[in-house]
Amino acid sequence: MTSICHVVSVSGGKDSTATLLLALERVPREQIVAIFCDTGNEIPITYIYLDDLERHLGIRVHRLKADFSAEIAAKRRFIARDQRTNREYQRVPVLDVYGNPVPSRDSQGRIHYRTVIRKGIKQQEIVPKMRKAHGKKVRWSNKAKRRALTVLQPTGNPFLDLCLWKGRFPSRMAQFCTEELKRNIAVTFQLDLIDHGFSVVSWQGIRRDESQNRRNAKRLERIGPKLWAFRPLVDWTAQQTVDFVRSQDCPLNPLYSQGQSRVGCVCINTNKQGLAQTAYRYPDEIDRIEDWEWLVGQASKRGFSTFMCDADDRKDRRAIFADLNIRSRVEWAMGGNGTMDLFADVPIDIPVCASAYGLCE
Ligand code: SF4
Repeated sequence: MTSICHVVSVSGGKDSTATLLLALERVPREQIVAIFCDTGNEIPITYIYLDDLERHLGIRVHRLKADFSAEIAAKRRFIARDQRTNREYQRVPVLDVYGNPVPSRDSQGRIHYRTVIRKGIKQQEIVPKMRKAHGKKVRWSNKAKRRALTVLQPTGNPFLDLCLWKGRFPSRMAQFCTEELKRNIAVTFQLDLIDHGFSVVSWQGIRRDESQNRRNAKRLERIGPKLWAFRPLVDWTAQQTVDFVRSQDCPLNPLYSQGQSRVGCVCINTNKQGLAQTAYRYPDEIDRIEDWEWLVGQASKRGFSTFMCDADDRKDRRAIFADLNIRSRVEWAMGGNGTMDLFADVPIDIPVCASAYGLCE
């Protein structure tokens, strides 16, 4: 008979803690494996909380970390061998007076066609005429290569190594951090268990009311052979989750008492209030991100990279960096409305509970 392994992904947040408690209630303890995908970008209190949780529940939480040493070594080799010196310009379609693309033609005026496959069906489509755009594609200059090769070494911190490899921070449009730092290593861990003969049930603390993407989340879903996803909280609210954890006398991550409505990494998508909270309570984390911005900038072709909102299409990267670097963002978040949103009329040096879930009522 195949053994079943219940893998619970713990993030240090309320939903995953509630999910772990439910798993402990419903299935034999020896079948439960709790995992924590450590991004290396967590607020340190989360690590302390995980130790507390392990002691409180008497269960080990396995810490998993992504490793990008091989990717960084490959990038070093690529940069060191890159001999391209010619300029390459971006190309854009030529448009007629009505804004429609002009077709490309041969010397006899015949339109060029190309074959494309859409939804498995072969189709002929007109090839648009292209012209050189103003923007020049960024190549690795010799200066940029020297700069990048100086810093391109694995640090052992998954988040930083990922950004060094990519030469940029993740953004809302290119949110590769979740996939590379959390999803991939959790899936690899589960596939290893399957290779060792287990059937795996992946317990996930997902709620439908969390976001649009999750509104159709299923309670039980077959992901592949011997692999199921089980989401016991799909129809719970955030408050129900908090109430459940408290009813079990289980500690919650202290970050909630400090006004964070979600916990996890210091997030590239954090809002004004979240950033102001982090800067006020954990200034060391802002110093760390400032150092990372410099390092990742050195590893990029352009020489600049910002932790938040790197998707600014202005040409002058120095101007973008000056506006969007973490210090400027913190100043923006802490100044004027940022401070007022956070602490209302309470003076900033008085310790307060700013919990969004009424934890200290
Ligand atoms: S999206 Fe935010 S919380 Fe998620 S991995 Fe990226 S930085 Fe961390």
